[in-house]
Amino acid sequence: MSENIKVVVRCRPMNQCEKERKCQNIVEINGFAVSVTNPSARISQKKKFIFDSAYKMETNTEVIYDEMCYSLVESTIEGYNGTIFAYGQTGCGKTHTMQGDELFSNKSGIIPKCFDHIFETISMATNVRYLALVTYLEIYNERIRDLLNKNENTSLINHSLKEIPGIGVSVPTLTTQPVVNANQCYDWLHFGNTNRVTAATLMNKHSSRSHTIFTITLEQSPFFNSMVSEDDFRGIRKGKLSLVDLAGSEKQHKTGAQGDRLKEASKINLSLSALGNVISSLVDGKAKHVPFRDSKLTRLLQDSRYYFAKFFME
Ligand code: ADP
Ligand code: MG
Repeated sequence: MSENIKVVVRCRPMNQCEKERKCQNIVEINGFAVSVTNPSARISQKKKFIFDSAYKMETNTEVIYDEMCYSLVESTIEGYNGTIFAYGQTGCGKTHTMQGDELFSNKSGIIPKCFDHIFETISMATNVRYLALVTYLEIYNERIRDLLNKNENTSLINHSLKEIPGIGVSVPTLTTQPVVNANQCYDWLHFGNTNRVTAATLMNKHSSRSHTIFTITLEQSPFFNSMVSEDDFRGIRKGKLSLVDLAGSEKQHKTGAQGDRLKEASKINLSLSALGNVISSLVDGKAKHVPFRDSKLTRLLQDSRYYFAKFFME
């Protein structure tokens, strides 16, 4: 696996409905390995998969953050780009992991933990000061919506991507909010969430059918004092952390999707299959062409080092 891409699996506990139906656990986690039993042929050999890490159902998000996200977030504070996202079927725990769960604690997710980590670290910086800016967008049916714009509640909006040589791909018309502490970031996340497009499916009635990207850009500028002179400072550094909550990866026939829902599902799967192709090419290392341009999601994440979290549903 490429050193800049990490793939981890998190197995969630069974929910009430699964317990009531007396569902059997077919996933076994042992170190970095995940073994899956074929439920209709239990005596056949288990399928085994190896990841950068694998987390059992008892593991809480804090452990995953410390082991898999901490160093990535540190490097974005130093001026690199990074992405953390959760991939998997609806109901497998992507939002629980990324955003946190009000049932547990508002700040239990990876995204709020990133906010705390970033502001704790930059408040201790002595030689540089930071300008922190956030954006929050949603990709729904391959259209980009600005979740930080109060008035943008129509599905007709579609922001354009612009490729700026030397800078990368960005959405110049998005609302950008300056933030000075973790609470402000959290408030913007919450504000944006109320603008998300959600629709019921048979698998999870609160399921979101869209991908979201919350971005924090951290720009360093010199803080000259007796220890640091202008000569010591070598250019401005800018790091970007993209925090992605993907729509469900389920196959259409399982969800009972029809009409508009089916149209959505094919667009969602388009972005997800483009993502899969991009990851395969990056991991392959020898691929001459990485198909970033195939979807909005992959174009937006093009300028990142990638960190991936892959999720399992039993
Ligand atoms: P997704 O975003 O992938 O559709 P959710 O994050 O909404 O899934 O999770 C579905 C349900 O499972 C939620 O009720 C959530 O509270 C619960 N859940 C998910 N992961 C865990 C976990 N690791 N521990 C406890 N409950 C979880
Ligand atoms: Mg979700």
